[in-house]
Amino acid sequence: MTQAPPALPIWDEFPHVLHTHQFSAEALEVLVQHTQAFEKAFAKRQPLPRKSRKRPWLVKLMFFEASTRTEDTSWLAAHRLHMRVRTIPHPQTFSSAAKGESLTDAIAALTRVGGLGEMRAADCLVIRHKDEGSASLAAKVVDTANGDGEIKLPLPVINAGDGTGQHPTQSFVDLYTIHQERRNGNHPLENITVLFSGDLKRGRTVNSLLYLLGKFGERHTIRVLFSTHSELGPKQDILQYLARHRIHYEFVPEFPNAIPQADVIYMTRIQRERSDGANYTTLDRGRYVFRKEYLSHLKTGAFVMHPLPINRDPEDPPAEIDDELTPLALKKDPRCAWFRQSHRGVPVRAALFDIIFAHIDAMIKKQTA
Ligand code: ASP
Repeated sequence: MTQAPPALPIWDEFPHVLHTHQFSAEALEVLVQHTQAFEKAFAKRQPLPRKSRKRPWLVKLMFFEASTRTEDTSWLAAHRLHMRVRTIPHPQTFSSAAKGESLTDAIAALTRVGGLGEMRAADCLVIRHKDEGSASLAAKVVDTANGDGEIKLPLPVINAGDGTGQHPTQSFVDLYTIHQERRNGNHPLENITVLFSGDLKRGRTVNSLLYLLGKFGERHTIRVLFSTHSELGPKQDILQYLARHRIHYEFVPEFPNAIPQADVIYMTRIQRERSDGANYTTLDRGRYVFRKEYLSHLKTGAFVMHPLPINRDPEDPPAEIDDELTPLALKKDPRCAWFRQSHRGVPVRAALFDIIFAHIDAMIKKQTA
């Protein structure tokens, strides 16, 4: 007898995806399984394992801050699901934000919720903005205005990075990467040690991933190591959260001492656009660089991840991952996972869109029955 596929999860504040606290371990496991099915179908050019109906959903991408991967893979994921996508070009410079418009007014205009009841101008919003809390604000605007019509049609807001806050879909990509890359003969999170380096204070991908790992603290033995400048350590509330969720953490000031202990090394760039110049220029950045010679110090099966971009500005050396490792990463060396990690943005975001719209389909069906 074939096993029934797991029921699609629903999470707190559904259908929005604002931060990783919203998700239970069960919901995250189902997202991983659904992503595996999408990745397989994409690779073999098979019919997609979609649960949502093909409707002309319109996904609107609003990136008020620079993006290479998140915007592109959100576009590709929606496109592969046959959704329509509209990208607002450089909203920070070319939209009315440049004329002093508030985010609330911009969201109301670009979704056209709360308007005349005509067709909406978006069915899903993917937003990146420099202010922490901006995605939650967008969700509030949409929810306040929505639902006056006969059919209450939720409009999901997906946080694609809110300042120094969170970047939840990146940590879904990170979790999925750990699932696909870690071969420990057991659950990929069992007995894992994850080493974080770089900007742990302002890096939103680090915040999201730490909160996400906390969701698994009851089920798996997870150890976290932090090795970075004392000025760039993780936020206190995250440390308290880790302790409450049975995640053991330690600070290891000397980076080379931390490397041989880790199964996953999560490098990040220093968020220089969010730093006050003074503390950026006084840091001895060479101390926390993953160098080629460290490959031989890795535990068997260990690998390096990075949410990207790596700061390779020649005016601003050193890069946090040695450029000598780039050819290895391009040739899919199992120890250098960062390009594979970023490519997984497409199946992860496709699986997420599909889960969200499958639930919205079900709501429509119920309301029109
Ligand atoms: N791309 C990631 C983000 O948007 C990481 C970074 O920018 O450093 O947060």
